Amino acid sequence: MLSLDDIVGQDEAIGRLDAAMVSGRLPHALLFAGPEGVGRRTTALVLAKTLLCARAGEAGGAALFGDDVPTPAPRACGQCDDCRMVDSGSHPDLHPVYKELAAYHDDPQVRGRKMQQLSIEVVRQFLIAPAGQAPSRGRGKVFIVQQADLLSRGAQNALLKTLEEPPPGVTLILICRHVEQLLPTTRSRSALIRFRPLPRDYVARRLAAAGIDGGEADFWAAFTDGSIGRSLQYHRRGLYATKRELLDRAVAAEADDELTDWLVKQMDKLSRQLVSEAKDDGAALADSVAGRRAAAALLELLVSGFRDALRLAGGEGSSLINADQPDVAEALHRRFDAVRLADVIEQLARFEQLLWRNVNAKTIWANVAVTCASAAPLRA
Ligand SMILES: [Zn+2]
Repeated sequence: MLSLDDIVGQDEAIGRLDAAMVSGRLPHALLFAGPEGVGRRTTALVLAKTLLCARAGEAGGAALFGDDVPTPAPRACGQCDDCRMVDSGSHPDLHPVYKELAAYHDDPQVRGRKMQQLSIEVVRQFLIAPAGQAPSRGRGKVFIVQQADLLSRGAQNALLKTLEEPPPGVTLILICRHVEQLLPTTRSRSALIRFRPLPRDYVARRLAAAGIDGGEADFWAAFTDGSIGRSLQYHRRGLYATKRELLDRAVAAEADDELTDWLVKQMDKLSRQLVSEAKDDGAALADSVAGRRAAAALLELLVSGFRDALRLAGGEGSSLINADQPDVAEALHRRFDAVRLADVIEQLARFEQLLWRNVNAKTIWANVAVTCASAAPLRA
C-alpha cells in the first residue's frame, strides 16, 4: 500500500500538494503533467485515497508539540474501508475517466464508434453527470482523467464549467503528457503540477533492483528518459533482445529482403502482444492500431541507434543510449556522415507517419531496410 511519502523523485510536485492540503486550499482541478511512468498516476491515486480516507489527518501529531511545529500534511490511514476500497479499485466515489469507457456508454452509437479521442459523450456520462450527484460515502468525489491530452475540443469545452466551479467536494485530476496539447481555457482553470523525468542512474538502479541485468537496465533508463513504468513494460515485452538484434541487423544491412521479413515478423509479434496485454486489462485494441503501435515502437528503437551515431559524430560519445552496444554507433558513424544520419532519422520518422495513413506495413519495412543499408557516400 502506497503513500505520498513513497513517491520518489517528485519532491516538488508532492511538496506543492502537501502545502495546499495543509493550508486547506487544494485546488479543485489539478493538471498532472509529465512523461509517462514517473509517478503521475500513482500520485493521483494516492491523493484520491487521502481525500477519500475517513481518517486522513488523524495520523498527524503536531498539536502535541505546540503551534510552532509545522502541521504535517494529511496522509491516508491505509486501513479504513475507504482506503481499502481505493486500493482494490472499487471505491464508489473514485472515478477513473478514460477513452475506452466509450465501450460502456449508454448510447450504442457511441459504443460502436472507433475511439481515438476522449470524447464529449464519455466526459458527459462518466464525469459531468456523476460529478453533479452526491458522493456515495459522503467525503467527496475524485475524478482522475487519464490521457487528458486526448480530450476532444468538444469534451474540453463541455468540461469548462465543471473545471471552473466543481460541485462541492469534487476534485478533478487531469493527467497528461504535454500541457500544450490542451486548450488554454482548460489549462487556465486547472492548477498545473509538473512531474519531472527521474534521473537515469536512479531509474537504472531501481530496474536493477527489480532483477533486470545492468546493461539492459542502463539502456531502458536512457531510452525512456528516466521512466520506470515504460522501462518495466518494455522489459516485460522482451524487447531488449529485439532491440539488440534490430541494431545488429541495421548495422549489417546486407540482405534487404531478409531484413524486411524479419522486421515484419517482429512487428506482428509485438502487435499480438499488445492486443493480448490490452485484453488482460479488460480493454479492446484493434489489430490495426496494435500493428501501428508495434511498428512505431520498433522504429523508435531503431532510431536510437542512429541518434547515437549522430551523438558520436558530434563528439558526445559518452552519452550513448545504446551504451551496451557501442559498436553500433561506431559502425553507423563510419557508414554515414552527420548530414546523412540526420536524413535517416527524419526518414524513419516519416515512415511512422505513413503507418498512420494506412500505407502497407511490408512496403514501409522494405523502405526501412533500404534506408538502413542505403549506399550513402562512405566517410573517407
Ligand atoms: Zn483510510
